[in-house]
Formats: sequence, structure tokens, C-alpha cells
Amino acid sequence: MSVFANTLREVFGVKTGDRVAIYLPMIPELPIAMLACARIGAPFTVVFGGFSAESLVGRINDSEASLVVTADGGWRRGVLVPLKANVDAAVEKTPSVRNVCVVRRTGTPIEMKAGRDRWWHEAVVGQSAHCPPEALDSEHPFYILYTSGTTGKPKGVLHTTAGYLVQTTLSTKWVFDLKDTDTFWCTADIGWVTGHSYVVVGPLSCGATVVMYEGAPNHPGPDRFWAIVEKYRVNTLYTAPTAIRAFVKWGEEHPKKHDLSSLRLLGTVGEPINPEAWMWYHRVIGGGRCPIVDTWWQTETGSILITPLPGATATKPGSATRPFPGIVAEVVDKDGKPVPAGQGGMLVLKTPWPSMLRTVYRDDERYRRQYWSEVPGAYYTGDGARKDEDGYFWIMGRQDDVIKVAGHRLGTMEIESALVSHPSVAEAAVVGRPDELTGQAIVAFVTLQSGKNGTAEVRKDIREHVGKTIGAIAKPAEVRLTDALPKTRSGKIMRRLLRDIASGKATVGDTTTLEDYSVLAKLREEEE
Ligand code: AMP
Repeated sequence: MSVFANTLREVFGVKTGDRVAIYLPMIPELPIAMLACARIGAPFTVVFGGFSAESLVGRINDSEASLVVTADGGWRRGVLVPLKANVDAAVEKTPSVRNVCVVRRTGTPIEMKAGRDRWWHEAVVGQSAHCPPEALDSEHPFYILYTSGTTGKPKGVLHTTAGYLVQTTLSTKWVFDLKDTDTFWCTADIGWVTGHSYVVVGPLSCGATVVMYEGAPNHPGPDRFWAIVEKYRVNTLYTAPTAIRAFVKWGEEHPKKHDLSSLRLLGTVGEPINPEAWMWYHRVIGGGRCPIVDTWWQTETGSILITPLPGATATKPGSATRPFPGIVAEVVDKDGKPVPAGQGGMLVLKTPWPSMLRTVYRDDERYRRQYWSEVPGAYYTGDGARKDEDGYFWIMGRQDDVIKVAGHRLGTMEIESALVSHPSVAEAAVVGRPDELTGQAIVAFVTLQSGKNGTAEVRKDIREHVGKTIGAIAKPAEVRLTDALPKTRSGKIMRRLLRDIASGKATVGDTTTLEDYSVLAKLREEEE
């Protein structure tokens, strides 16, 4: 790590405060690059390898990174991911980038632009393994992580150095009861916040051994996770409900083939876990002996905020239980008044915490508006929740235009802007519908430009276009073509109705503001 920190300075001219974009597969160079940046105080932004060249452009330009660290490619279910080719396309549109550092991972032939691109293994030659850490203010920016919000443009969540480190370390210690003799496996990709906090920073600062893998839970076989747990004698496994639901579907025989006796603690994150999946995880993976920690938190919170502490908190399947010590969470109405037990409301945090985001990068106003204006005197999480008589929190999902597909966060507006950039599309509205496996699935209602025909081919092309614009994870599960979208008289798309239609529910509630009732009937017909 120190070798690369010196390389950043000496070869790529990165100075304290300069931004570095990291677009790598799940290989050791990824945490090495992050920690090397931290060592010299260069804020980094990790861009998930599944994001497209276009998404990379937006993130590099917003952060004005001068260096991109990437690889010649990555592997996903045996298929090559052309990371360097994406970077080449992106840097055409990113004036801030001076250099690209390329890790040799797949051996794929790639183009190296003289003067701009350097191989990692060549750049590090001759660099010293001694790099004293830069002395920094506790509030010095640590990293920027772009996440979806309620507008078309992802926001750069800014985390700073000391508070983030303190709370990720403490939460790893207490929530996972982690010791330096443990082997810890958080299965998240480092491109998401879970990977930042619980693959890299928390467990490493606790001195634990961390497992990382490049790939997918069903490749080469549906027992990939269990083979890894057995091989490395993993003690703590931290994964997403969506993965657990897939394992349930694939069958118990796969975990049963492996010795999982090393496991002593299990965790989940990213979305609410349904009690059936919780019970299965407990029985089949945990052998009935491992506690489960259902941990609620967000990119913005930096570390786990609502969670059981193993051995100390009695769990209830489906509840993230109670706030972490020091966290003041509450379920309130729009005026900030706590709602009675058992009633749904807005989940807020009433006092600051060390690992909270400090701002939206270069957009303090958006930070204020998004998080601090909805509920007087509190941080609004965007989540709905209820608290039961025992003070346990039950998270009910997002209340804003953010959807969670397989635990990945996507903004409906972001997908809509990708859709309307397709030459055949006139207007688009995106909603989430419940999905047994992925929690939520994306449904896009689309009207075409006049004269364009709604063939299956066009529908497919529209899906692919979203994949190219944002990344494969944002491709709608369904594209529904319609003549018009239901709107209020003031022209606002009535998403609630679309959500009902997408999930096949009868439309409930007030529809008197609908501009054109026939649109609704039409959308239903198209469903048949
Ligand atoms: P992200 O910032 O991408 O990690 O997404 C954060 C969102 O994921 C939260 O606002 C919740 O909607 C959801 N979430 C995370 N953890 C949990 C959990 N344990 N239970 C329910 N929802 C969760």
C-alpha cells in the first residue's frame, strides 16, 4: 500500500487533496489503491465496475479526478468486463484526467495511450515501501461515493477521515464482535458503501483477515459462497437478503455439501429481510447456532446505525432491532412528532454521529434540502419505519423516488433520463414493484415519439440503452409501452397509480386529480 502511495505521488503527481477515481474489479489492488489514497490524503471515488462509461464520466467530472485507476478487464460469471475500454471512452469527455493507471488482470489486449496510460506493475517499480502517513485534519475529506437520489444526477456523498474511521471500527467490533484472529467475509462489492466500510475500513482496522472474491454467487456453481466459507474457514458472513432469497430458491443441497461449522455469526444489510429468509439463513447456514445481525444503515450514515449486538440484543426476525449506542433514531410524522408504537412514519436521526456524511460534494444546498429540510430539527433518512411496543424498529422501505433492486440503490429519475435519451422515447416514468427475489424490480412506462412503432425489438433496444447509459443493474425488468401517462392537471405524473398498476394491485386512493381517466384504463388493458 505504501509502495502505491509513493507511486501516486512520484509517478502520477497526485497531491494531498487531489481526487482519484478508482474503477477496478474486486481484486486486492482495489483496497490497496483506496488505502494508498488515504495515506497521502487524496480523496478517492470508487466507481462500481458494473457502471457504464457514461456513469463514469459523470462521476469523474463531478469530482474532477486527475487520475483513474483501472484494470485491463474484470471477470463476471466467466464473461470479460471491458473496464479499460470503458475508461478510454469516458476520458474523452473528462478534461480533468491526466493519467490512467492500469492493473493487468485479464491479459486482454487493450490500447495504452502514450503519456497518459501506465501499467500499475511498471509504475510501482523502484518505489519505496515506506510512506509515512500525511498528517491531516480530522475533517479532511476521505472519500466521495456517488449514490442515487431523487434527481437525475447521482450525488457525491462526502465522508471525512477521523469520524468515519472511528465509527466503522467501533461498529465492526461491536456488531460483528470481531477479533484480529477472525476471518470476516462481507460479500458486497467495494463499489458500494458496504464494501467501503465492511470489506475495507472496519475489519482491516480491527486487524481481522478479510475475504474478497471476484464473481457471483452462482458461478461456477450455486455453492460458490459455501465453498469459500469452507475453504477459508470464514467465521462471520455478512450478505444481502436478495442473495439469501436466491439461495433459498436454489435449494438446501448446495450449502449442505460444505462444512460451514467455522461460522459463528451472520449478518444482513441493504433491504428489509423477510422472516422466511431470516429463518432459513439461521437454520441452514447458521446451523441454528449463529446469531443474525440485521443491520440498517445507508451510504450517508457511513456505518451501521440500527442493529442488534450479538449476545446482548434479543432478535426478532425481520427487525433491525434497536439503535447502536449513541444513535438517537425515531419514527415521526411530517411535523417531527413521534408516532405511536406500531404506526408507520418517517425514520429520522435526531443527533449527529461521527461517520455521518458531511455534505453532498460541492453542493451544500442539495445536502441541506435533501436531508435537513423534510423534518424539523432532524436528519431524514428517506425510509419509512415503525417502532413496536418494545422499541424495536421495523424498516418499511424507501419513501422517496429511490428503489432498491437486489439491494442496489437506483433513482427513478436517473433511469427516466436514460430512457428519454433513447431516440424513440418521448416520455417515461419509472416505478418499483415488489419482486420475490430482488426485493424490488424496475418497471418503466414509456410513450414513444409519434411515428415510432412499439415492437418487441424497440422494447429490447430501450432496455439495452438504459444498460449502456447507466449500467446493467439499471435495466428495467419490464418496459411497458403506452399512449399516455396518467398525470395530474398540473402535469405531474401520478406514480402512485403506476406503482399500483406495476404491482397488479387495484388502484386505491384519490384519483380525482387525474387529467385523463381513460389513460388508467388503457394502462390496465395493456397489462392483460
Ligand atoms: P445504500 O445507501 O445504497 O446502502 O441504501 C440504503 C438504504 O437501504 C436504506 O435507506 C434502506 O432503505 C435500505 N436498507 C439498508 N439496510 C437495511 C436493513 N437492514 N433493513 C431494511 N432496509 C435496509
